[in-house]
Amino acid sequence: MKSDVEIAREAHLDEIQVIAERLNIPKDKLKPYGRYMAKIEGRAFEDHDEARGKLVLVTAINPTPAGEGKTTTNIGLAMAMDKMGKSTISTLREPSLGPVFGIKGGAAGGGYAQVLPMDDINLHFTGDFHAITSANNLIAAAIDNHIHQGNELGIDPKKISFKRVLDMNDRALREVIVAMGPKKNGVIRQDGFDITVASEIMAILCLARDLEDFKARVGRIIIGYTYDEKPVYVKDLEVAGAVTMLMKDAILPNLVQTIENTPAIIHGGPFANIAHGCNSIIATETALHLADYTITEAGFGADLGAEKFLDIAAPEAGFTPDCIVVVATVRALKYNGGVAVKDLGEEDVDALKAGFVNLKRHVENMKSYGVPVVIAINKFPTDTEAELKTIDELAVGLGVDVALSDVFSKGSEGGMELAEKVVALCEAPNSYAPLYDTNLPVEEKIEMISKKIYGAKDVVYSDDALAMIERIKKLGRDKLPVCMAKTQMSFTDDPTKLGSPEDFTIHIRDIRLSNGAGFIVALTGAVMTMPGLPKVPAANGMDIDAHGVITGLS
Ligand code: ADP
Ligand code: MG
Repeated sequence: MKSDVEIAREAHLDEIQVIAERLNIPKDKLKPYGRYMAKIEGRAFEDHDEARGKLVLVTAINPTPAGEGKTTTNIGLAMAMDKMGKSTISTLREPSLGPVFGIKGGAAGGGYAQVLPMDDINLHFTGDFHAITSANNLIAAAIDNHIHQGNELGIDPKKISFKRVLDMNDRALREVIVAMGPKKNGVIRQDGFDITVASEIMAILCLARDLEDFKARVGRIIIGYTYDEKPVYVKDLEVAGAVTMLMKDAILPNLVQTIENTPAIIHGGPFANIAHGCNSIIATETALHLADYTITEAGFGADLGAEKFLDIAAPEAGFTPDCIVVVATVRALKYNGGVAVKDLGEEDVDALKAGFVNLKRHVENMKSYGVPVVIAINKFPTDTEAELKTIDELAVGLGVDVALSDVFSKGSEGGMELAEKVVALCEAPNSYAPLYDTNLPVEEKIEMISKKIYGAKDVVYSDDALAMIERIKKLGRDKLPVCMAKTQMSFTDDPTKLGSPEDFTIHIRDIRLSNGAGFIVALTGAVMTMPGLPKVPAANGMDIDAHGVITGLS
């Protein structure tokens, strides 16, 4: 089969104005970036009637390190629904250069289920991540400048929680010393970098309703504490206005198309293992007004991404998901059944059966939210007949719909069965309700997620975590939802515990308050907010020739 870039190169793209016209987006609301990408300005849907489309959430089982095809399935499903004559928009997260050059690769789908132009989308796209990086680092610069200029607010340099960011996997920047050298360079202190997608600015972009809400949330970010333990807000530094100004275009959703010219809106991209992991509310809301069906995705396994979509993003936005698609692969089930990554290409029905418990728990979890569920088996070229038959039989036993999806190899044709099931399920009874009442104490919210979604027997807290929970209570911010930061590889906080582990403890290492985003982050295990590159990064296999022809990007 051809590579992703080769397939992408052969596709026929419509001019972006044509895609916009199909969605009835007024001309004056479209800000084109070249021929095939555009920003949608302002509330493009105000001119339309208020009829809301159906919302489909694509999530997955615990993945292998390479990812299991949520994005690919989302795109293929949108194309198949479009082909059925349903007006559909795929809403996705923007790729981060960290994974693009690291292990996982890009996030524009794969094979015959891609969003295009995949090279632009995977690289700088419309510059949103650069804007977020700049906005974040303006706050960082303002903090150090404030201290240098006399520190009127009394910021304790030892209690600054706000970090600098960069959109790159660069472990060397996890802990740094800033302001080394003479006095004119500022006050020396230990600092650190997070990856841009882990920043609170990214989370705010994805949760804000408009520029005004964005600015108010940025103003509420707590950057650290004073010597006498009072919180210091970005508004105290008087830069919320400038930060918001830097984001004036980044806040607008990006319109592109799939390989079959189905509209796609790609906007925001927080990591689901450390942030809430869903594309922006602005993008989803726009899509829900422009099309009859919106297909969104939530990062990593359903224990992280979908839980946060259902407990943080959807309640915040007032969305009711109409159907949840749980993507499963033969590979990931074998991996959860104990097969090493390098052996995943070999047939192993017993390992598949052993790993099936992982899918079972995710499906039961999703059903517990009251939303109709369908399993999409994302077919890989290495899957054997015996394996596909086994997975289908086991999946049917869970009492939910199951569809084989072969959109990677066949495009929309490979997604018709899934599309038909999704369309039917969107009309099925729905009693969606979030898992917990945000008014519960912080510890109770954490316990509910840990026990009901992960299957933990108990939760233990470090002293630092308990102290921070106390601080949050004193600040009166304990009624916010909890955003768990956990490995995506396991239901537990230990990435090596695969399958459906029982009888384990969740360790809350630290608690952070993302006061602007509006959630409390509970950090478990050893989860990192700045990833590193692997021994052989994906970057090593990439190239561009004298004619600008790219290879190795996927
Ligand atoms: P996720 O969104 O779950 O992380 P992606 O859709 O980005 O996963 O897919 C991860 C990687 O696997 C991508 O490189 C994609 O091209 C590839 N992939 C996805 N589905 C298939 C498939 N059915 N066959 C082969 N490769 C696939
Ligand atoms: Mg993805």
